[in-house]
Amino acid sequence: MRAHIAVVTLALAALAVTSQPSRRPISLVVVGGTVVTENPQHRVVSPGAIAIDATTIVDVDSPEAIAQKYQANETVEARDEIVLPGLINTHTHAPMVMFRGLADDLKLMDWLEQYIFPAEAKTVSPAFVRTGTRLAALEMIESGTTAFADMYYFEEEIARTTREAGLRGVLGQTIIQFPVADAKTPAEALARTERFIQAFKDDSLITPAVAPHSMYTNDKATLLACVELAHRYGVPVIIHLAETDDEIKTAHERYGVTPTAFLEDIGFWGPRTLAAHGVWVTDDDIAILKRRGIGVSHNPESNMKLASGAAPVMKYLAAGVALGLGTDGAASNNDLDMFGAMRLASFQAKQVTHDPTAVPAQKALDMATIDGARALGMEKVIGSLEAGKRADLVTVSMSASRQTPLYNAISHLVYVTRGDDVRTTIVNGKILMKNRQLLTLNRASVIADANRLAQTVRAAVK
Ligand SMILES: [Zn+2]
Repeated sequence: MRAHIAVVTLALAALAVTSQPSRRPISLVVVGGTVVTENPQHRVVSPGAIAIDATTIVDVDSPEAIAQKYQANETVEARDEIVLPGLINTHTHAPMVMFRGLADDLKLMDWLEQYIFPAEAKTVSPAFVRTGTRLAALEMIESGTTAFADMYYFEEEIARTTREAGLRGVLGQTIIQFPVADAKTPAEALARTERFIQAFKDDSLITPAVAPHSMYTNDKATLLACVELAHRYGVPVIIHLAETDDEIKTAHERYGVTPTAFLEDIGFWGPRTLAAHGVWVTDDDIAILKRRGIGVSHNPESNMKLASGAAPVMKYLAAGVALGLGTDGAASNNDLDMFGAMRLASFQAKQVTHDPTAVPAQKALDMATIDGARALGMEKVIGSLEAGKRADLVTVSMSASRQTPLYNAISHLVYVTRGDDVRTTIVNGKILMKNRQLLTLNRASVIADANRLAQTVRAAVK
């Protein structure tokens, strides 16, 4: 009997040795305690592992199955952690982290006119944008965001900095009717935007976009020139929409209709368009957005802090509008932590509907991942952990006192986790942070540079 076992063992060993070379060589395996895939079935694999080759996910399975099938160059051990798709921030103005906490608790127009606009007029430059974006990128990597949609000035500087940091960006060059830091006229802004698109249209991480600021800060000709430019190059359009009731009043005074209906009437709405906020929309507006396939970015924290109102999230969801989550610029939030955005998206929906079943944890997580990807028209590329998608993922520690005990991973991700709990951040198959160690940014110099620049910002609003 013993001899028989020995023979079997030998045979198995021989089999193991001969089967070794058939394991597919790949670049990276992430072994996790629990893998939350966000695939259409909301599959959770526990324990789970993700096989990545170069930029792409090739498999998600048990750690044993992955070990049998693949030979990885590098392995990230995250057995006590949750692995999830990288979070997608669908609305921000990255360099505005430099205005974080500069002025709070003010009416929107006082805040803008006394602080933000003067500070921007005196400080916004390519160097300002680079320093601010590096700080924003550091914060996003450290808090688990792997892709973001942006609107600002000197967007080419944001693109370069984003690429250096290794993050994915849908980056919109702002077009606005009045003179701003990077363009004196809309025509100049459009020409700058076209050069920006040409420079970045084939980038693996950057999707250049055209970003008319809003329907109330641009005239009809400029709005239509923006969509013509975007369609000519097949790039996305990003616009602020119906953020405040003032915008609704302005639209009615100027055009006699809602902002959404005005943009419909002039032929603005087209493919790959993202509308940020969408707070003050009618049922007819929602029907237009759904019919045109417009993605909407919901920004609960900014809307609450500026008392802009509460977007009709349940109506958007019932209509089937692609609804992502955003933080908005850090001047009105005041951080870029998407875990906070998930939590408040859920709480705000419950409060305004008086219904505790509104936006459950799973839906909030969907909005920060796969639904955000859908809002950006990128659901075939990012937003879930599935073979064939880009390897954008993060791991989250579950060892904090506030995360103990752990019964339900999705509940913990939305209701108790903070950005600081993120351990490892991977974008396009590249590790940007491993066990809190930054690999693409020098943390100390990013923070020192931002603090130095803050002296200029402080002087600008004195
Ligand atoms: Zn905004």
